[in-house]
Parts: sequence; structure tokens; C-alpha cells
Amino acid sequence: MQIPLSGGCFCGALRYTLSAQPYGQANCHCRACQHATGGAFAGVVLVPTEALELKGEYTEYTAPGDSGHPVSRGFCPRCGTTVFAHTARIESMRPVYASTLDQPEQFAPSLDAWVDFAQPWVLMDPALAKYPRDLPAECAGLPAPKNRKRRGQE
Ligand SMILES: [Zn+2]
Ligand SMILES: [Zn+2]
Repeated sequence: MQIPLSGGCFCGALRYTLSAQPYGQANCHCRACQHATGGAFAGVVLVPTEALELKGEYTEYTAPGDSGHPVSRGFCPRCGTTVFAHTARIESMRPVYASTLDQPEQFAPSLDAWVDFAQPWVLMDPALAKYPRDLPAECAGLPAPKNRKRRGQE
């Protein structure tokens, strides 16, 4: 991606810049992202926490994610656009919702996550790696576990 990237909510009151390359780019099919964005799934740019600079007010709504851990989603209190998320157990990374980028065409997902929760009316790109549940650790800036197996690679 071309860094720095900028983006924000629909009304422009909540803005952000991304100052480093993301750890990854993914389509998230979890139910919480479906609800929070009103979409079938959410494109998320997985950015190092320190590289995300927010400007403007936001409200956070916290609920258990499909992982069972609390996940907060930051949204503009004026227009309601969900802009980013924050998983309590992963402090190293913040998912930023790709549709809020000023240049959303820069988004290029490499995988689908939480596909166990994907809607049957969603057509996924078969070329992208599929994760039944959570994202791989590298996408959160964490070391990859050894001997990991991925669906379709066994
Ligand atoms: Zn707004
Ligand atoms: Zn999600």
C-alpha cells in the first residue's frame, strides 16, 4: 500500500492516518463485523497500533467477538461509521475498515477470516487463503506458531 494512507468516517468528523505498512489485509466474515458495518463481510487493514493516528471524537462499543474475547469497535458519534476495531487480547494491532480509506481501491485482501460465519450468499475469491476462524498471528504482528496447518494445505 502507498503509505501514508488517510481515511475517515462518512461525515468527516473522525479522521485517521496510517503511517506504516499494515501487517496484513483481510476480509473478515465474523458476525460482529457484519453487524458493525451492515455489510456481508468487512475488508480490514491490519495496522500496527502505533501507526494509526486518529483525529476527532469516537465512541467505542464493546462486545464479545466470535472468539469470545471482548472486541471494541470505534465509530463516529455523529454519522455512525465504524472506522476501527480493538481486540483486548491483541494490543499490537488495530483493524481499520478498508471502506473508510480515502482510496479504498488500494485495499488488496490476501485472505478470508472467520469463514465459518460467512453468509451463504457471499461469493468468496477461491484464490484467497481461507481461515475458518481467527486471522493468522502474523496479521496481528505476532510470531507464527510452528507446525501450523491451514485449510486446503494439509
Ligand atoms: Zn462521522
Ligand atoms: Zn470481524
